[in-house]
Amino acid sequence: MDQRSLILSLAIGSFVFAGLLYIFQRNKPREQRIPFWITAKCLQGVGSLCLYFMTPAPPEFPIVAAPLLLTGCAYESWALFAICGHPVSRRTHLWTAAIILVLTLAAAGLGQPWRMAMLPALHAIFYALPAWALLANQKRELSLRVVLGGCFVLLAAVFTAQSALALCGLAPVPSLDAVIPAAVYVMLLVSGFSLLLLAQQKSDEALERARRSLREQDAQYRFIVDNALEGIVALDRDGRVTFLNRRMAEMVGYRVEEVLGKPYLDFLAEDQFADATAKQAERTQGLDGVYERCLLRKDGGRKWVQVSARAVLDAAGHYAGAFSVIIDIDARKRTETALTASNKRLAEQSLLDGLTGIANRRRFDEALAREYRRHARGGASLSLVLIDIDHFKAFNDRYGHLHGDACLRQVAGVLRQNVTRAGDLVARYGGEEFACILAETDAPSAAAMAERLRQAVAALDIPHEASPTACRVTISCGAATVRCLPGGSPLELLARADEQLYRAKAAGRDQAAAESCAN
Ligand code: GH3
Ligand code: MG
Ligand code: MG
Repeated sequence: MDQRSLILSLAIGSFVFAGLLYIFQRNKPREQRIPFWITAKCLQGVGSLCLYFMTPAPPEFPIVAAPLLLTGCAYESWALFAICGHPVSRRTHLWTAAIILVLTLAAAGLGQPWRMAMLPALHAIFYALPAWALLANQKRELSLRVVLGGCFVLLAAVFTAQSALALCGLAPVPSLDAVIPAAVYVMLLVSGFSLLLLAQQKSDEALERARRSLREQDAQYRFIVDNALEGIVALDRDGRVTFLNRRMAEMVGYRVEEVLGKPYLDFLAEDQFADATAKQAERTQGLDGVYERCLLRKDGGRKWVQVSARAVLDAAGHYAGAFSVIIDIDARKRTETALTASNKRLAEQSLLDGLTGIANRRRFDEALAREYRRHARGGASLSLVLIDIDHFKAFNDRYGHLHGDACLRQVAGVLRQNVTRAGDLVARYGGEEFACILAETDAPSAAAMAERLRQAVAALDIPHEASPTACRVTISCGAATVRCLPGGSPLELLARADEQLYRAKAAGRDQAAAESCAN
């Protein structure tokens, strides 16, 4: 092949290579493309074409072709740097082109032999640089990089030789002038495809690195999710479990595989179904929610949890499922339940008399005020019976306070047994005195009730040897009845019942006194 055909082949080869590069890089993401590589090949192609049209009588110094070929050579060198993992910036590319242009222009103005030595020297530099990038830190084994690096070394050596010969005044050497295009041509063939393979290798490595990093990230997320203190669960649109972490499985006492694919309702206590369905409906509307829920464990036990649920929508905004973070609040919930029960007990106890177990004075006062208001609204009669144990001081003195207490309990018990209607209340009014609120009861019924209570206590037949009234424990009762008035007070009722009690005492005790009431 003559020199002209060789140069034309070089030009065509460069354009073909640029085309191959375009196809090769077209589908790659931007960050995986090698910048200015296609430009490098195009510059080399255009430079070679310029040379082609000047041959067979090229000027001594090809002022147009030289900067094009050199810049192409330099850009290819930077492309190799990028392939080897040392990316070169866009700014460096622009500076390179500018410096080459200045140097070639300067070289055109130099005298011989410098002018003849300059171009091959620059070529030698730009072939030596990628050789260095390829061969640095390489193991001593034959690889694509080593072969390619070797090619660049040879090329750099040829150009260095040409430059040296020029400096020694031995240039132009016709045989060497013929060698250079041939060497560049061979280089184009060898290096072109090696370069493509190397770039593919690099892109495969990048892909593998990305996959590895993805796998590592995945493993990291899985580790976090699996070791989280909270349960994590995901549901599909039908409420079936599509994912759960170990902690979640622990909470329901199953293995992860036993839960996957099951409807989440299978893991809820039955009394939760209605609320769970309502919450699920909120999710389907895309609403999130935080609430407490009772889980049903495999062993039949129950566990209270706090659920923070989030709706998952698909790209079209339709409900696609939900995922929830679950916190174990069982211990807190049990404490809360115990506390509520204990508070309730305490509240009840605060309204009960410690000795007799019936309502105490506080509860009596509240109930009397409430009943008075209620009766004022309805207009019905409200009655009250006050009860006092006769000669109880003497009972204590004769039998002791312990027996006195027992007697109080017995009397309270019998009173409670006899006052059973809803709205009625028996209370310990104080000391050995009791009071009965009789709702919606008129005066004759109240008098009858007072007498019934007196007889019931007498029927207990508790011995009372110290009583001047009878040989057993007796009571005196005072009954009063009022028609309640809006804005009125139950104090008058109390005072009148007390008056009747006093009358019963004064009349000799062990009797029930009652008034008939007009207002
Ligand atoms: P009367 O027939 O006039 O009502 O005479 P009485 O002795 O019952 O009345 P008094 O008010 O003089 O005495 C009431 C007694 O009730 C005095 C007190 O020791 C006794 N008492 C009050 N509360 C209790 C109690 O919780 N336990 C006992 N064992 N005795 C009580
Ligand atoms: Mg008394
Ligand atoms: Mg008394």
